Amino acid sequence: MTMQMDETPIIADRETLQAKLGRANRDLAVLYEISGAMRTTLDLDHILYIILTCVTAHSGLGFNRGILFLINQKERCLEPQMAIGPDSGEDAQKIWQYISDVKPHLEDLIKEENVTANIQRSSLLQAVKTLKIPLDHNNPSPLVRAYHEGMPVHITPEKIGQYHNDIFLQRFRANELVIMPLKAKNKVNGLIVADNLFTQKPISEDDLRLFMMLANQAGLAIENASLYKMVRHQSHTDSITNLWNHGFFQDQLSQEIKSAHANHHVLSLLILDIDDFKKLNDTCGHHNGDIVLREIAHILKDSSRENDYACRYGGEEFAIILTQTTTEQGMVIAERIREKVAGHPFQLSADAGGQKLHVTMSIGLGTFPEDAQTKGELIAKADKAMYIAKFSGKNRTCS
Ligand code: GH3
Ligand code: MG
Ligand code: MG
Repeated sequence: MTMQMDETPIIADRETLQAKLGRANRDLAVLYEISGAMRTTLDLDHILYIILTCVTAHSGLGFNRGILFLINQKERCLEPQMAIGPDSGEDAQKIWQYISDVKPHLEDLIKEENVTANIQRSSLLQAVKTLKIPLDHNNPSPLVRAYHEGMPVHITPEKIGQYHNDIFLQRFRANELVIMPLKAKNKVNGLIVADNLFTQKPISEDDLRLFMMLANQAGLAIENASLYKMVRHQSHTDSITNLWNHGFFQDQLSQEIKSAHANHHVLSLLILDIDDFKKLNDTCGHHNGDIVLREIAHILKDSSRENDYACRYGGEEFAIILTQTTTEQGMVIAERIREKVAGHPFQLSADAGGQKLHVTMSIGLGTFPEDAQTKGELIAKADKAMYIAKFSGKNRTCS
C-alpha cells in the first residue's frame, strides 16, 4: 500500500527532472553554438550583429525583436547601435514562414555580408537611432536602472503602464520586454532590449536565465572587439595630429580606387602642403610648428565629410581622399579649406610672443579615373599639381 502511494510523486518528479534535463541540454547546445559564433570575428559591428541574431533567431533565444545599446563614455549616455526585428506583423509572418521552411542555421544567419545591409535597412533602428539616453542616476528610464544595477529588468504587461512617459518606450511600443545588461569584468558595456511584440509570447523565467548566460558572453565579446578596434585605430593614427597616418592613407586609397573602379565612381585626391613652414619653425620654434599642425588637422577634419579620409601624408604635408567627388566638386572643397586655413588666426605660445599668426597652404588635386588610372599615378598627379601651386605663388589650388 505504501509503495503505491509513493509511486505517483516519483513519476511526477522524474517527468519534471526529465523536462529540466531536456531544457538544460537545449540551453547548453544553444550557448555552445552562440559562443562559437562570437569567436569567429573581432569586428565590432559583426559581433553586435551575431549577438542580436542569437537573441532573435529561432535557433537562438527566439525573441521577436532586439535592440543593442552601447555605452558612450564620453557623453555618458546609452546609444542604440543595432537592431534586429521585423518591421510589422506581416513582415514577421513572412520571416517565420521562411524560417520554418528553410530552417536556417545560426551560422548562415550571421554571415558578414548581412551586417551592413541589416544596419542600413532596419526600420526599428531608424525609429530609435537618434535617441541618446543620459546615464544620470536620477534618470527614471528603466534602461538606465538596468545599467546602474547591472541586473536585468523585466517589465511585465501589468507594469508597462508605469512607463508611458518614457521616450524610448514610446518609440519601441512594447507591452512586455526585458532589458539585459551586458558586462565585462563586472562593468556594464552595453544593454539589449528584447520583446515578443508579434507573437505576444510571455517572457518566462527560462528565457531570462538563458538570456543572462548569453549576456555574459556577449559583454566579453564586445569588450574584446572594442579593444581590438581601439588598438587598430591607434596603429592607423598619427599621434601629433590625430589624423590617419601614411600607412593607412596608402591602404585606404588602394581600396577606394578599387571600389571606385568596380562601381564606376569618381574620386578625388587632395595633397596639401603648408607654405614656408620651415621659416615658421625657425622663427617661432618647433613646438609652435606642432601647434599649427594640430590646428590645421582640426580644420581638415571639420571640412571633410563622413566618407572622406583626412590623413597626415608626411612632415607638413596632408592628403584628403574625397570619395565620389569630381574635379569640380574637389576644387570647391579644396578652396574652402584653403580659405579657412588662410583666415585662421593661429595662437602662438607666450615664449614666442603670444601673437596670432597667419599660415597658408598650397593644394594639388587629382581625380580618378580622369587624371590617373592607378594609385601611384593619382598621387603623382596631385603632387605635381601641388608643386605647380607652389611655383605659381603658393596659397592656391591647382588641378
Ligand atoms: P614650401 O612653402 O616650399 O613648402 O616651404 P616649406 O618651408 O614649407 O618646405 P620645406 O620642405 O623646406 O620644409 C618643411 C619643414 O617642415 C621642415 C621640417 O622641419 C618641418 N616639419 C616636418 N615635420 C614636422 C613636425 O612634425 N613638426 C614641426 N614643427 N615641423 C615639422
Ligand atoms: Mg611646405
Ligand atoms: Mg613639404
